[in-house]
Amino acid sequence: MNAALKKKLIEAMADAILAHADELTVLDQAIGDGDHGLNMKRGFEAVLAEADAIAARPLPDALKTIGTTLVMKVGGASGPLYGTLFMALGKELPPEPTIADLARALAAAIEAVKARGKSELGQKTMLDVLGPLQVALAEGGADLASRLPAVANGAAEATMPLKAVRGRASFLGERSIGHMDPGARSSALLATAICNAIG
Ligand code: ADP
Ligand code: MG
Ligand code: MG
Repeated sequence: MNAALKKKLIEAMADAILAHADELTVLDQAIGDGDHGLNMKRGFEAVLAEADAIAARPLPDALKTIGTTLVMKVGGASGPLYGTLFMALGKELPPEPTIADLARALAAAIEAVKARGKSELGQKTMLDVLGPLQVALAEGGADLASRLPAVANGAAEATMPLKAVRGRASFLGERSIGHMDPGARSSALLATAICNAIG
């Protein structure tokens, strides 16, 4: 993958997070401690500040650097989890990935996030967006880049009726029902940004 595309993808992810930071904060105010927007903004501002240097590296190294930056800067529960996600993708993906490589790497990265968070799908977290995205990638087919945003956004919406079993939202128990999970929303934003930048 060439440096220009890597930079475009970094900018697309950062722009999406910065543009929606307030929305992520409002979601986290409802079922968490209200810092998810700020956490993600801090992390992606740091990634954006290093965009040229990161984009100059081969894709696996670029992804690992994004992962370590997110671990250092995002903080909270989501920092180590998003960090794990990007680092695992960097470990699994070749420099010029196919859709099949992406599907396989995302499956491995999801397992790494699950292990890090001691979490499973269905617990009202970012995993509830990453899982359906992986399934859609594995199924493949035409126009993936234009179909995946709907998959991701639908999956984030589908966290509303779930009861949180992991993270701060789980402290609310039944009262977490009826709210979209902030991490699911940020995952959908990142996926949508990537698809729009590629497609
Ligand atoms: P914190 O909860 O520490 O304030 P953030 O607000 O930045 O951290 O991130 C909260 C998000 O992290 C949640 O909405 C959820 O999607 C995700 N999350 C929290 N704990 C876990 C976990 N154990 N496994 C997967 N995702 C989790
Ligand atoms: Mg929070
Ligand atoms: Mg917090």
